[in-house]
Amino acid sequence: MGSNHKSLQAILGAPGVRGKRVTALSKDGLTDFVLSMISKKQELKEPFYVLDLGVVVSLMEKWSRALPLVRPFYAVKCNPDPTFLAALAALGSSFDCASRTEIETVLGLGVSSDRIIFANPCKAESHIKYAASVGVNLTTFDSRDEIEKIRKYHPKCALLIRVKPPDDSGARCPLESKYGALPEEVIPLLQAAQDARLTVSGVSFHIGSGATLAQAYRGAIAEARAVFDTASRLGLPRMHVLNIGGGFTSGPHFGDATSAVKSSLQAYFPKEHGLTIIAEPGRYFAESAFTLVTNIIGKRVRSELREYWINDGIYGSLNCILNDHATVTAKPLADTSNSVNPTCRRVRTYSSTVFGPTCDALDTVLTGYQLPELQVNDWLMFPRMGAYTAAAASNFNGFNMSAVTTHLVYSNPT
Ligand SMILES: *Cc1c(COP(=O)(O)O)cnc(C)c1O
Repeated sequence: MGSNHKSLQAILGAPGVRGKRVTALSKDGLTDFVLSMISKKQELKEPFYVLDLGVVVSLMEKWSRALPLVRPFYAVKCNPDPTFLAALAALGSSFDCASRTEIETVLGLGVSSDRIIFANPCKAESHIKYAASVGVNLTTFDSRDEIEKIRKYHPKCALLIRVKPPDDSGARCPLESKYGALPEEVIPLLQAAQDARLTVSGVSFHIGSGATLAQAYRGAIAEARAVFDTASRLGLPRMHVLNIGGGFTSGPHFGDATSAVKSSLQAYFPKEHGLTIIAEPGRYFAESAFTLVTNIIGKRVRSELREYWINDGIYGSLNCILNDHATVTAKPLADTSNSVNPTCRRVRTYSSTVFGPTCDALDTVLTGYQLPELQVNDWLMFPRMGAYTAAAASNFNGFNMSAVTTHLVYSNPT
């Protein structure tokens, strides 16, 4: 596709990507690329990521086609890999930042401050002052104390009231217990903002991360409509920003989610004049763009059971199993020096356990997983590992998981 090809060229020439080594993949060439990287890593068998920039182009194209009127602000916390952020910036994405450091990172890409929302409802005073100093003038709140801090340190900032969606029970990671004003808190908060001479420009919500119930968007958009109406009843300035948050996935549920969003916008905001609609997708852009490759560093055989140790785990990239309730899949790749058959197409499989490298028994990645017989120095590849993985890795037990290298490739965007 011509326009996707142009987008890819724009990414490859963008600041933050230009000058880095990016390998073109043939169709389905990711495994071949990983095998070639593995054969070069005979000495240092550290885990690594592969970031496919072609996937990022395809996802942006798919977003624009499905939700042309909804401007994406990528949620940086999901994966702050600098090349990935630079690619999104080159594709025209805006950004959802939750801290001073995230704002600094995004500004450092050359992104202007009007493409940033400080979407953290509870911010430290020093971070608010910083946002004011660099002109990040849009944020969220759900408490009176936040209004007071913003009045003192950033009175020019426009506000979005973050409301608790009616139901996020279908989400893998519900957020409702932590954020969002309750229905009975909306009026007092809007009045408090007005008393502080702050402008509430609109409403924001987050239906929860990894949502599977697309209908959650409908309930939340209906609730946002009610808040818009409440604001006009109170005689406040007309609201004109609707922030539908994150919760999107790039898998088969994306179509359901976007249909629910579109039909609900039509139902509750028909011909709303001058309305700006934004979203804060994190997982949608990050998940499928990254593949993790780990090395098998240990093995134990207990009759029929096979147990393996790999050099990344629950305290590293695979923290997503605990923190993000992720289910991961692994594909074995044989070390070229171990076997003449590098793709491991051996027939017999065994029920296998895969452990991470730390000495904590909790550091278990897979149990009862069918794998062929593998050897020390073989590799395990984990697809769809871009969301809430490296971003939350620690250095527990001296394994420096937050410093895993990322190799760049591009497949032809579809
Ligand atoms: C984490 C977060 C997001 C991103 O959520 P995803 O489910 O990854 O899309 C968006 N907005 C806010 C305020 C968040 O905290």
